[in-house]
Amino acid sequence: MNLHATYQTVCRTLGTERVRRNVPLAPYTTMKLGGPADLYYEAGSAEELSASVKLARTLGVPFFLLGCGANVVVGDRGFRGLVIRNMARHIHVDGTRITAESGTIVYPDLIETAVQAGLSGLEHYVGIPSTVGGALWQNLHFLAPPPKRERTMFIEEVLAEATVLTESNVIREVGLDYFKFGYDYSILHVCDDIVLSAVFNLFPASEAYMRSVMHANLTWRALRHPPLDSEPSVGSIFKKIEGIGAGRLIDECGLKGASYGDITVTHRHANIMINQGAGRAADLQGLIEYVRDYVARETGYRLETEIDFVGEFDPPTTGNPVYHPRPAGLVTAEELAARRKASMTQ
Ligand SMILES: Cc1cc2nc3c(=O)[nH]c(=O)nc-3n(C[C@H](O)[C@H](O)[C@H](O)COP(=O)(O)OP(=O)(O)OC[C@H]3O[C@@H](n4cnc5c(N)ncnc54)[C@H](O)[C@@H]3O)c2cc1C
Repeated sequence: MNLHATYQTVCRTLGTERVRRNVPLAPYTTMKLGGPADLYYEAGSAEELSASVKLARTLGVPFFLLGCGANVVVGDRGFRGLVIRNMARHIHVDGTRITAESGTIVYPDLIETAVQAGLSGLEHYVGIPSTVGGALWQNLHFLAPPPKRERTMFIEEVLAEATVLTESNVIREVGLDYFKFGYDYSILHVCDDIVLSAVFNLFPASEAYMRSVMHANLTWRALRHPPLDSEPSVGSIFKKIEGIGAGRLIDECGLKGASYGDITVTHRHANIMINQGAGRAADLQGLIEYVRDYVARETGYRLETEIDFVGEFDPPTTGNPVYHPRPAGLVTAEELAARRKASMTQ
């Protein structure tokens, strides 16, 4: 079957009114960049998700499963094949267990459900853009609550089990061990299994306690992260380097403000690049390479990206970046902390 006929079969099987052609993907990613998908389908339940993935596999149509698009960069030329946006969002509470379909939005939907049911364990991940599927793909993580913030907490700590569609199209119940979780890692990075739903095992706690953790974490994030609605980003670009910090290396190299086109290393946080309007994936890839080479030359550390690149890309931008000055009035979290410390010792 040629491509045209295969695409027609996809449209006919999933519903011609449900499958859209040539759909720009930028609005469906947090970085707000990237070209169109040949075919675009929104799966509204675990059954629809499973059926659409099976269909693409059977027909040999390349497909990509999109959650909130918070950890992916789509190429400027878009995606040849079917993009399935996961909107399977049913949630069910049973005692201390919550079952959520994999397209459930972690915050507010899942976390608010848990908090209102008096169940603790998920509130730490407040404010992070993610579906349940994306959270398991990446082992969503954040710092333990204040005042200690002594360790990183991972979503694996409250995961009981999950239902997956294996790469051979079998539906399977899997336990925690299946995922082989690590930092920014799960088995889903290296196999084509799809999470259909997940069960979280939580524990009773007072709503006041959970709200205080959420408030503290949202405040922490607001001080360090660019606001997604006005400064779109894909979160941290480079993986953490234990005890050193990728952002600190980039900052020490004086790379804050470096820009290709509308993509800039933000002055708020050196490990985050923002799209200032008409950003292109070629500019983002180029800037990533520029920063990586510069840091390697100056410090000897080789930075590794923690994001997923999807679709077809133009050649990355090269050359010397333009440097944007720091916006007037911007105060970073580190500076705020230093000011507070100084005022306490006066
Ligand atoms: C402003 C900002 C702040 C962030 N802060 C944090 C943070 O504090 N901690 C943290 O851990 N992360 C953070 N991130 C990264 C991001 O939020 C997480 O990686 C998130 O889990 C991505 O989920 P998603 O639904 O957007 O997945 P997507 O980006 O849509 O997809 C990511 C990958 O997961 C795969 N995938 C999605 N759903 C499934 C499924 N059901 N089954 C199998 N594979 C699937 C996709 O195919 C893709 O390969 C941040 C990102 C942003 C933009």
